[in-house]
Amino acid sequence: MDTAATFLGRLPLGRGWNLDGARGLLNKLRTYLPAEQIVTVRRAYEFGAKAHSGQTRKSGEPYISHPVAVASILADLQLDAQSITAAILHDVVEDTPTAIEHIELEFGEEVAALVDGVSKLDQIQFKSKAEAQAESLRKMMLAMARDVRVILLKLADRLHNMRTLGSMPAHKKRRIARETLDIYAPMANRLGINDIRLELEDLGFRNLYPHRYQVIEKGLKGRLGGQKRMIKRITNKLRKTLLEQHVHAEVTGREKHIYSVYQKMKRKEVSLDDVADVFGFRIIVDDADTCYRVLGHVHRTFRPMIGRFKDYIAIPRVNGYQSLHTTTVGPKAIPLEVQIRTRDMDNFANSGIAAHWLYKTDQSEDVAPQTRAREWLSGLDDYQADSNSEEFLESVKIDLFPDKVYVFTPRGDILRLPRGSTPVDFAYAVHTDIGNRCVSARVDRRRMPLRTVLKNGQTVTIKTERGAHPNPGWMNFVVTAKARAAIRGYLKELRSEDAVKMGRRLLDYALVEFKTKIRQIDGNRMSELLDSMALDSPERLYEQIGLGHQLAPLVARRLLTGSDDQNPDDADADTTELSITGAQDMVVSYAKCCYPVPGDSVMGHLSSGRGLVVHRQQCGNLAEFRKQPDKWINVSWEAGIEAQFTVAIRIEALDKVGALASVATRISNAGSNIDHVEVVDSDGDASSLRFSIRVRDADHLRQVMKQIDSMPDVLLVERVIAS
Ligand code: MN
Repeated sequence: MDTAATFLGRLPLGRGWNLDGARGLLNKLRTYLPAEQIVTVRRAYEFGAKAHSGQTRKSGEPYISHPVAVASILADLQLDAQSITAAILHDVVEDTPTAIEHIELEFGEEVAALVDGVSKLDQIQFKSKAEAQAESLRKMMLAMARDVRVILLKLADRLHNMRTLGSMPAHKKRRIARETLDIYAPMANRLGINDIRLELEDLGFRNLYPHRYQVIEKGLKGRLGGQKRMIKRITNKLRKTLLEQHVHAEVTGREKHIYSVYQKMKRKEVSLDDVADVFGFRIIVDDADTCYRVLGHVHRTFRPMIGRFKDYIAIPRVNGYQSLHTTTVGPKAIPLEVQIRTRDMDNFANSGIAAHWLYKTDQSEDVAPQTRAREWLSGLDDYQADSNSEEFLESVKIDLFPDKVYVFTPRGDILRLPRGSTPVDFAYAVHTDIGNRCVSARVDRRRMPLRTVLKNGQTVTIKTERGAHPNPGWMNFVVTAKARAAIRGYLKELRSEDAVKMGRRLLDYALVEFKTKIRQIDGNRMSELLDSMALDSPERLYEQIGLGHQLAPLVARRLLTGSDDQNPDDADADTTELSITGAQDMVVSYAKCCYPVPGDSVMGHLSSGRGLVVHRQQCGNLAEFRKQPDKWINVSWEAGIEAQFTVAIRIEALDKVGALASVATRISNAGSNIDHVEVVDSDGDASSLRFSIRVRDADHLRQVMKQIDSMPDVLLVERVIAS
């Protein structure tokens, strides 16, 4: 303990410095930390004192007294040296010019991450009073923290700030007190840290509702005399019973907590008398078996109330809490609430999750509640019962709520989105209209691409524009069902518009054979046809044609002759062609079997639901399709198409280092982009490669292939076509 002594010896004894704070901390650390770790804490203290020098708390004390007090609270929970070190440094980055990198250099990555985590939590603003908001905020903080120790540190920070709230103006006190009751006390509860929770609740309630606090406090005190005698009587009776049964147990009466009395009164709408006249007892024993034996003795001494027994040993609460609870009928029919648990369970009940960082000499012991909390924390249930504390630490570093992110709207509301969500998902989550009309986004006030993956705690602002439309490209990155459905719905509409246009063109094209046009069709004739097909407008008919559900030549015949059978003169049926414009059209697509490009001689196939699919004349699939001549139409390319078309080429090349790379270079030098490369086959001597590339037209493709063909190592280059 030499180093510990040095620590004390080197404390500056400057004016106003509360030496007891540091001495108290040191004394606590000495009970569970090895000397070499205390040296680090000492260094942190010197570092922090220097960084905060000249700063004071509202109370007038030197600032460093606050971080030391926070560290001291964590030392009560026997947290590890890193947490204690980080606690001493927790306000350094926020309140002094010291950079986080400096802390990392001096105290390592882990301590720096803890300090950074606390600083980040401090940046979250508590903006709304809504209960749901508080719940989201708690979750967001848990999700942001990544490491539970950050939360423990934040709770200790808050606890000390609550203890020293005295010097704040009244309205600030109330705000901080409410925040404490809404956010921090429930968080301590979820983590099972009862000691901190109770104190936060007490201080929070006292500062938020000073009057109510006093009334209850006084009411409880007034009953105290009588209660004390009663508690003593019952405690003695229980002790005597257990002694007779040779059970080693510690029996204590439980004190009442003002805030929980208040909550009970509010929740059950009962008077102070009803809540106050319930007596609580706790029995601590050596092992779990004894808990059940003691329960039997208690039930034999005082009659149990039906339906009030809870076995949290067999089925622990989600925060890992374990105990037996029962309520029995005491003297004068007073209800007695009795908790029975082991020493370990009791420790865990007081310090909860923090119990995992208890400095233990015996690493082998494994306690069931710890396993339970581990499961709860990581959200995983496949943990091995014997996994060691290091593994546990790792699991804690995983987000506590791994599949959600919490982000703010500009108004301060919190939205919970699936992990991976983008500003577009956010926009649709706010409102479908916002999503549909969104054009750009700001994340934490910075302009960011719409595909940016959002992080916890960010504020997202969406810019919308009248007349803006969803972009089909968004489908590539949105993750929420709502965004997907909305974009898909819009695309369907778009497709339907395109289909109507295409259907019109197809029908006009078919009517050419009859030397007429849609405009010259008799209106009555059209109505009759629509009726017979159960369609309500010509547009729906064009849509059906455009989507390939109806065949234009057949529709044309029915329009002119009222019959499907009579064939027009077939002789010049092939003389006209439908032209392909190459524009982005939702009902024209290019076959993936033969990859047609402008310049190729092509045919169009009306494929039900897909519209017009363009194939090359040489395509092997044409033979099959020719069996349904009605579904085939002649198409040709419009001149001057400006678009990129995908084609597949196969290359046989000698296996040489860099062969693939030089082919790829040739392709891009020829002005073509590569979509995909695949090594189809390799016999160790030569390889067969398949490239998907983009070209403007058949001429361009020929140039690219010529370039490749001229390479010495290339044996063959050919266009791929389905056979
Ligand atoms: Mn602080």
